Amino acid sequence: MENNTKIQIIDSHAHLQWPKFDEDRDAVIERAQEAGVVAILTLATDLQTSHEVIRLAEKYSIVYAGVGIHPTDVAKAELAHLDEIAQLARHPKVVAIGETGMDFYWDKTTAAIQENFFIAQLELSAKLNLPVVIHNRESGQAILDVLAKVPDLPLKGVFHCFVEDVDYAHTVLDLGFHISFTGNITYKKSALAEISTAIPLDRLLLETDSPFMSPVPMRGKRNEPAYVRHIAEKHAEIRKLSLQTICTATTRNARSLFGFDD
Ligand SMILES: [Zn+2]
Repeated sequence: MENNTKIQIIDSHAHLQWPKFDEDRDAVIERAQEAGVVAILTLATDLQTSHEVIRLAEKYSIVYAGVGIHPTDVAKAELAHLDEIAQLARHPKVVAIGETGMDFYWDKTTAAIQENFFIAQLELSAKLNLPVVIHNRESGQAILDVLAKVPDLPLKGVFHCFVEDVDYAHTVLDLGFHISFTGNITYKKSALAEISTAIPLDRLLLETDSPFMSPVPMRGKRNEPAYVRHIAEKHAEIRKLSLQTICTATTRNARSLFGFDD
């Protein structure tokens, strides 16, 4: 490990509101700061957690919030919830809409509802000039089809937990999006390490997706923002760059995309 002192990392995707953090959330934030994490974007998955992430952002200076409805939560949500979420999005520490997107792994029968919520949140993102955080699981083409339906929306944002191939990466890069990989980039059998090298350094973000997707060597444990460091180290290793270079670039990217304070 390189010296900690000048490393500044942004975990662009976590779910700190999850009950798994209830026992030791203060310590989790402290460990993140010790690992060089200077900002954590914590994402809501429904209306209730949209309120919760804002409370966390108010409590912890390094925590920022994304508000929205996750594709696997649409069945129990109402489109009217997005009106309240639009109000919440005006909070100064809300820096993104999400997470939204589509997920056919969990349930394809809600595809039409997922699409409605996705489009509504893309519109909200454009209207409020906030980046959108896109979740994709076995729904890559459907997401591109939706984006093709709203060609005039001025969108920016990130495809988080990227799991597609190089061609797909180029397609979303051409649309102006950023890309981030979770701990799955560190898994031995994963092709994602190779795919990740196709992402220009100025479009790459780091994320944990904690408490899920723990990177090697923490696999099997609860994930937490401090472990974003292992993901940064993996990018450094596969690109043959220094940890400092990866962190400097991805932190700059996250700051400019989400407008985090310096
Ligand atoms: Zn997530």
